[in-house]
Amino acid sequence: MATQILIVEDEPAIQALITYALEQAGYAVLQAQNAEKALEMINEKLPDLVLLDWMLPKMSGVEFARLIRRKERTKLLPIIMLTARVDESDKVSGLEIGADDYITKPFSPRELVARIKAVLRRRLPERSDELIEINELRLDPTTHRVSVCDHEVTLGPTEFRLLYFLMTHAERVYTRGQLLDRVWGDHVFVEDRTVDVHIRRLRKVLEVVKKEKLLQTVRGSGYRFTISVEASVR
Ligand code: CA
Repeated sequence: MATQILIVEDEPAIQALITYALEQAGYAVLQAQNAEKALEMINEKLPDLVLLDWMLPKMSGVEFARLIRRKERTKLLPIIMLTARVDESDKVSGLEIGADDYITKPFSPRELVARIKAVLRRRLPERSDELIEINELRLDPTTHRVSVCDHEVTLGPTEFRLLYFLMTHAERVYTRGQLLDRVWGDHVFVEDRTVDVHIRRLRKVLEVVKKEKLLQTVRGSGYRFTISVEASVR
């Protein structure tokens, strides 16, 4: 599935220019001409990243960013702010409200794509397709293989996605709700305890290679994949 980028920009010429550049780079593009429309679209489906113009009619880009940072569902959504201003203080307040990056117009399509890639690598590492290895547990996203010292284990598709997500976000604690959003997909109507079921299955498989302790339950919060070596002692 192509990475989806929502462009919130009221100037049609810039909207078209960015859309073209991003489609050329292989992204799926969604467009909104104002913040209100963008909120509606985000409410329906979460994009992977938002390119947000600073100056918008009615609700400004800054207000919009503040709003989505406040909501549980959208607070981790990557945002890159676009602005025509060159004032440093704008840059500071853009980053203060939680934008991941900041680009001043005019910018080249190449620069824009490079910045998007950098933010996505940082914020959505599970999209990068890079082989990942933590405490001898090795996961290859391109072949869907999981192994420990050449001993391969077989995971169901959901357990694989769950492990992949947790390994690419090691040490961070995720609630069941966050895991549902990030691993199962947005707006999927399954119960929180579905997560527990799949965590249990995943642990069972990891037990075979003695790595189950890497998958930790954080009481009252959720789950975490740890890079701590002690948890990996056989
Ligand atoms: Ca504008």
